[in-house]
Amino acid sequence: MQSSQGSLVKLKDFARVGQSPKAIVLCCSDSRAPVEMIFDQDIGDLFVIRVAGNIVAPSLIGSVEFAAATYGTSLLMVMGHTQCGAVTATLNHISSFQVPSSENIHDIVSRIKPHVYSISQLPEMTFEKKVELAVEANVRASVSQLSSSSRMIESLVVQKKLAIFGGILNLSTGLFRLLEN
Ligand SMILES: [Zn+2]
Repeated sequence: MQSSQGSLVKLKDFARVGQSPKAIVLCCSDSRAPVEMIFDQDIGDLFVIRVAGNIVAPSLIGSVEFAAATYGTSLLMVMGHTQCGAVTATLNHISSFQVPSSENIHDIVSRIKPHVYSISQLPEMTFEKKVELAVEANVRASVSQLSSSSRMIESLVVQKKLAIFGGILNLSTGLFRLLEN
């Protein structure tokens, strides 16, 4: 399969001059949340790290470090989204002791679990509301982990060479809500 004609022209340009992405984005793999399309970004604009549940794990931190150090990208955004399947699976796992179907899925769920456990225990709240709160808690946790799990990232933040933000894409409205730090 060949890339589209327009993409091919841009790819050739970037192959020649290299990349200089405007932002690094850690976001969920959900097919409804393709960050470039959502924000009308083009080839070369965003350094995107996609993983179910926008979790933080060593190789994902390494990807952020690589982009920040190599391209000097000064903006890092964690984007979660409403109706997140990974967050929903984690809440289901907590409430019904449902065992994830593989060790690797369990790894994702176990990384989300500590950040949403207290929400899962809230009484008199619909499951949908819990998912909504848990999505936000999970984004905040990823922002906090990225801010504190890497000496390189910490140092870039202190030097004001990197700013980290979190936000949530609402799949029903298309609106993106930036979370206050
Ligand atoms: Zn998701």
